[in-house]
Amino acid sequence: MGVYVHIPFCRSKCYYCGFYSVASIVFKQAFIRALCREIELRKDYLGTYKPETLYLGGGTPSYLTPDELQIILQKLEEIHPLSLSAERTIEMNPEDLVPAKLNELRRLGFNRLSIGVQTFNEKGLKKMNRTHTARQAIDGIFCAAESGFENIGIDFIIGMPGNTLENIKADLKQIQYLPVSHVSVYILSIEEGSVFARQIEKGIFAPPPEEKVTEEYFFVADALREMGFEHYEISNFARAGKYSVHNSNYWSKKPYIGLGPSAHSFNLHSRQWNVANVKTYSESLDKDILKFDFEELTEVDQYNEYIMTGLRTMWGINLDILRSTYKKYWSSVESRIAAYIQQGWAKRDGNHLVLTERGWLVSDYIFCDLFVIS
Ligand code: SF4
Repeated sequence: MGVYVHIPFCRSKCYYCGFYSVASIVFKQAFIRALCREIELRKDYLGTYKPETLYLGGGTPSYLTPDELQIILQKLEEIHPLSLSAERTIEMNPEDLVPAKLNELRRLGFNRLSIGVQTFNEKGLKKMNRTHTARQAIDGIFCAAESGFENIGIDFIIGMPGNTLENIKADLKQIQYLPVSHVSVYILSIEEGSVFARQIEKGIFAPPPEEKVTEEYFFVADALREMGFEHYEISNFARAGKYSVHNSNYWSKKPYIGLGPSAHSFNLHSRQWNVANVKTYSESLDKDILKFDFEELTEVDQYNEYIMTGLRTMWGINLDILRSTYKKYWSSVESRIAAYIQQGWAKRDGNHLVLTERGWLVSDYIFCDLFVIS
């Protein structure tokens, strides 16, 4: 089971961002109070499941001070104690990677960093409205390693309009010399409500053609593999088996609790997601009211999710499970996998069906093809 905490504050909004966060800290104290209350009120959400991982995401969790983080962690420890060796991740923006902060994070028990680098190209960073420079990211990553962090992941964006393969090569060359064990490579998606979506609407720029994004994806995947990274999930690469345990639990459909505005939770038979508004979230929790939406998962939903989460990873989906637990649905689509294999989109690995990199690129099509509509 995983515990996710959403910290909804950012110094400013990145132009591509579709996550819920606000560029203001007016509600910071109210939020921390509300979050602690939510942790208490929902202490029984996952019944007898024991927490295995903690992930502070956002937003920008590293924007909080060590004292503020300590208040949250103390409450979590009281309700959801973790073993000493459990993976404890915090998302960081590069400008926060300074010795004093990093030492405090180590003292608080974090043992994994997920750093929003996106690119080492200064122009690209400005275009995205990131709040840091490439130098801050590079120095900060070395500083994190010197502070004792051995599990460092970075996020990287491809498919940026105007970007060239030369820029991407330069980024990859930089990654090669950094002490990072995990790279998440996201294809830029134009999120509704983001500044990029508005800029596209106004004709300020156009998203790059699909072939260009495909070329970048394969280029990056090949280069990272040559550097010793394993491509273990559509968007994720890890060295020396340092997979994200927290995210791997999502993909293997383990339960999790999500705390904070907009956070999602899953208890094997239903999903719920908190209101995506820090003011409403904090004010309602002041009155001990939890504001969330809820969805009970049908058997069809469970089947569709098994397909979607399983095929995202290099471990794929277990055909024995599909033929037993989901026989009713799988039997009507199973014959399609021969065509995927022939197209080079999928392969058999024992009793598992696994998508190839080529298959991951067309995974939306494959998921729709295998999904059952209820
Ligand atoms: S991408 Fe991250 S840092 Fe940028 S606005 Fe979104 S949540 Fe904040």
